[in-house]
Amino acid sequence: MSTAASGSIRTVVVDGLALAQELRAQLTSEVAALVAQGRRAPCLAVVLVGDDPASASYIKGKRRACERVGMASLEHKLAADSTQADVLACVDKLNRDDGVDGILVQLPLPKQVSANAIASAIDAAKDVDGVGPLNAGRLLLGEPGLFPCTPLGILEILDRHHVPLDGAHAVVVGRSMIVGKPVALLLQRRNATVTMCHSRTRDLAALCRSADVLVSAVGVPRLVKADWIRPGAAVIDVGVTEVDGEIVGDVDFEAAQGVAGLLTPHRRGVGPMTITMLLRNTLLAHRQRTGA
Ligand code: NAP
Repeated sequence: MSTAASGSIRTVVVDGLALAQELRAQLTSEVAALVAQGRRAPCLAVVLVGDDPASASYIKGKRRACERVGMASLEHKLAADSTQADVLACVDKLNRDDGVDGILVQLPLPKQVSANAIASAIDAAKDVDGVGPLNAGRLLLGEPGLFPCTPLGILEILDRHHVPLDGAHAVVVGRSMIVGKPVALLLQRRNATVTMCHSRTRDLAALCRSADVLVSAVGVPRLVKADWIRPGAAVIDVGVTEVDGEIVGDVDFEAAQGVAGLLTPHRRGVGPMTITMLLRNTLLAHRQRTGA
């Protein structure tokens, strides 16, 4: 965490990596304690369909993160021309494998495979990415469950920085199933008044300006300008876009400093927290499945 002030507001810039490391140290001791009791370590299975280099690199990062906290990980690689039936068969095998606690099928999938069909096939008890209909329903109903990792990471960042949510106006830009919708529901569960925005929203700038908490999960570089931010607001930038070989967020980061009260950078911001929440979900799934 660091602070920057160019206007009258001192902006706290979130150090998502430091926060993630702190949480991962906690997870490491919890996993070590399980193993010391003679139990097996939690295990995450990742499925990669095709050979998209970005997906392969995400999978590698997730497996490495598992190893570092003492969890086991398995990788199933399927060819790019695999049919939906092939992917469903792989998921079914992992569902029935008692040694597997979490299943993650890396997106995007080839066009012949429906992401919804695969998400629905994952055993809800192992759905550590929170993509299946049962966990989505639990989130909607306000019940406990396994919820998407990026939204969980965002809530953790807000809580760790003591951002008040009760009665706050939260504006979420983006309505995807992995970020926008679940983060809006999680914020609403914490008694924020939530406005959800998307590509058809009228006067997005004015809505954003009315936010105490602004979450942008769009993927349009520097969409959110400094004058879209209410002075002192907590601003969470989820967007990651590559522009000329450089990673750029949804928020004009430089200009937002001195306006936002809390601000996540597009590097070392939400990203490290997403993987940490995947590890936390895998441990949770393990505990719930094994009673550990
Ligand atoms: P997505 O499925 O493409 O959804 C994007 C959303 O943004 C849609 O709801 C879309 O509206 C809305 N949108 C597009 N253009 C807009 C505009 N000009 N004004 C307002 N809303 C607009 O994306 P996603 O999977 O949620 O990801 C969003 C971004 O977050 C991407 O850059 C992604 O790489 C990044 N991401 C980062 C992490 C992390 O851990 N750091 C994790 C997940 C995603 P419509 O629904 O109307 O089309």
